Amino acid sequence: MIIYLDGRFVPEEEAKVSVFDHGLLYGDGVFEGIRAYNGRVFRLDEHIARLYDSAKAIDLAVPITREEMAEAIKETLRKNNLKDAYIRPIVTRGVGDLGLDPRKCEKPTVIVIAVTWGAMYGDLYEKGLRAVCVSVRRTPPESMPPNVKSLNYLNNILAKIEANYRGVDEAIFFDTKGYIAEGSGDNIFVVKDGAIVTPPTLNNLRGITRAVVLEIAESMGITLLERNLGYFDLYTADEVFVTGTAAEVGPIREIDGRVIGNGKPGPVTRQLMAAFKTVTQKEGSP
Ligand code: PLP
Repeated sequence: MIIYLDGRFVPEEEAKVSVFDHGLLYGDGVFEGIRAYNGRVFRLDEHIARLYDSAKAIDLAVPITREEMAEAIKETLRKNNLKDAYIRPIVTRGVGDLGLDPRKCEKPTVIVIAVTWGAMYGDLYEKGLRAVCVSVRRTPPESMPPNVKSLNYLNNILAKIEANYRGVDEAIFFDTKGYIAEGSGDNIFVVKDGAIVTPPTLNNLRGITRAVVLEIAESMGITLLERNLGYFDLYTADEVFVTGTAAEVGPIREIDGRVIGNGKPGPVTRQLMAAFKTVTQKEGSP
């Protein structure tokens, strides 16, 4: 595997960063998760914009231009001969001392990893996922903004651990006010009486797949609502699904033991899954 590291393409064994890198010591950095379909990077501009926005929000100056980043991403894909891939650009604060102060870190570290990728949930796209609402809360917007895709994913990992212990596929996060935020690595939607409802993006990551699904739903003439949701909305939904770069559109069939709809992926979710597949096959920059 060939990795992009600070301007060079190196074999995996040589792709090493310092133990003094603040990405490791403090989770001080940002990242993206991007898909390529048929060798074409999906929604690259949007991912690059979000990466640079995440960096700006934590006062981290990415040491390469957006164009150079786009090229590094595409070249990593090419050098590994990948067609269907998951790509992970990372920018850390770089090497400093053991103190927190980012001023000690002179140069951010830039990494791009690309691996081969298929459907994350396998046969669960047909069966539907089981989920639980977890006790750990999504970082409140008044603290680290959830729109920063930072290297601090510990809350998400705690959510996943809770889901694992409860024997289900996905965790649903709430915020500290009791509103639904998102899944452990994806955004959440409910379908009720033919309308699609999803929380506004203040308490969750502004997902790029979320935006694609909203575009698709709009083009299909489906009613869209962005409003805060609670437990009741989840349990009584006709359909629930999650969206994410890795998960794509994932139907949820059960939440906290309550069967959603008839316990199978519903008609609106299925339509969106099919339409999303069509979009991903057609789009992308070479
Ligand atoms: N929410 C979280 C916490 C995520 O990590 C992700 C994945 O990037 C998403 C939502 C979905 O965002 P996207 O569709 O841009 O991948």
